[in-house]
Amino acid sequence: MSSQQNNANRNMSEEKERQRNRTIDKEAQRANLVKSGNRFITKFISAISDDQHLPKEQKDKYIQRLLHAIFFIGYVNDPSVSPMEFLSNINNLWEVIKKKYPEPCEKYLTHLPRQTPYSILLEYMGRNMPSNDTELMKKLVTFNTSLLQLGHENQEALMANDFSFAASVIACSKYDDKKTSISTYGASLSCKGKDLRKLMIAISTLHVWHKAISYVVCCGNRGDRIEFYNHFYCNAFNVAYNINAQKYMYIPVSPCKLCHKMYKNVTFCPGFDNKNASWAYGNCGETESFSKLLLRLEDSKNYHLFTVINSKEKSLNGLDIEDTFNKEHKKPMTDYVNNILKQRKFNFDPKDWQLFSPV
Ligand SMILES: [Zn+2]
Repeated sequence: MSSQQNNANRNMSEEKERQRNRTIDKEAQRANLVKSGNRFITKFISAISDDQHLPKEQKDKYIQRLLHAIFFIGYVNDPSVSPMEFLSNINNLWEVIKKKYPEPCEKYLTHLPRQTPYSILLEYMGRNMPSNDTELMKKLVTFNTSLLQLGHENQEALMANDFSFAASVIACSKYDDKKTSISTYGASLSCKGKDLRKLMIAISTLHVWHKAISYVVCCGNRGDRIEFYNHFYCNAFNVAYNINAQKYMYIPVSPCKLCHKMYKNVTFCPGFDNKNASWAYGNCGETESFSKLLLRLEDSKNYHLFTVINSKEKSLNGLDIEDTFNKEHKKPMTDYVNNILKQRKFNFDPKDWQLFSPV
């Protein structure tokens, strides 16, 4: 056999090996997704059912939003996971859920989620805790730890690193001018699996986030930024699992390079460190928490609290922002989402997306 043939054969077998590994990776990722979804749904429903303070109507809405987000992620995952698979190991649970919450069990095929599952959990846990970070982190540690405990004889163990919906960073943004004090929480985008993170960033940018935030997420790479006026603060926490203590911990973390560049005149705690990494635009918990904060402030105040400045140092008004976003970013982002959803045979009108809001 010639050496050329030898090389060709070796390349072919290496390619086959790579393909086999990719399939194993995909199957392992899918198995983790099923386990994580199962555990997340059962623990979330149990935590919310035990909540004595939340009215039933609101409990049902949180549960439906969580079910929809997990079913949607399962459906668009490659290979796909059906809602029934998430709940199949517990007797009748799928039947009970389908009867009690028919909306998310149908609309995961036609409607898009507004938030990731972990962001829904964070909103639920943080809703009565304005600026009490320590208390919130304690509640999250308890919840995260409960995900790893077996609650049912048919359940397989879930390792901390395998939890598909984990948000590595939680950010708390705050506006406090002594007269008005508002805090909001945000989770980093927590979707393991190809395309999912990018998909959630695109949906959030197009339909969920405050327009100024969507603008800098798209244009931050050329130096465009938000200059906040005074009184803006942000604390972020990185989740880590301590194997020896078998415990989650939230450790204060300073902003990444991109957040530091996009969000100016904010008192970050801990402060910026030049050695920090850069994550993808829109990925960080800071983005979601600042977006929520600006939306809340817009509702409660009628004067400006920030300016968007472009790379030529020009201040932009709301119309400039929308104009640039629509001209340069709306179409490619929309096309990206439409392509992914078409590939996954999602049943929707590409020109008229519907977002899930339980009735
Ligand atoms: Zn960041």
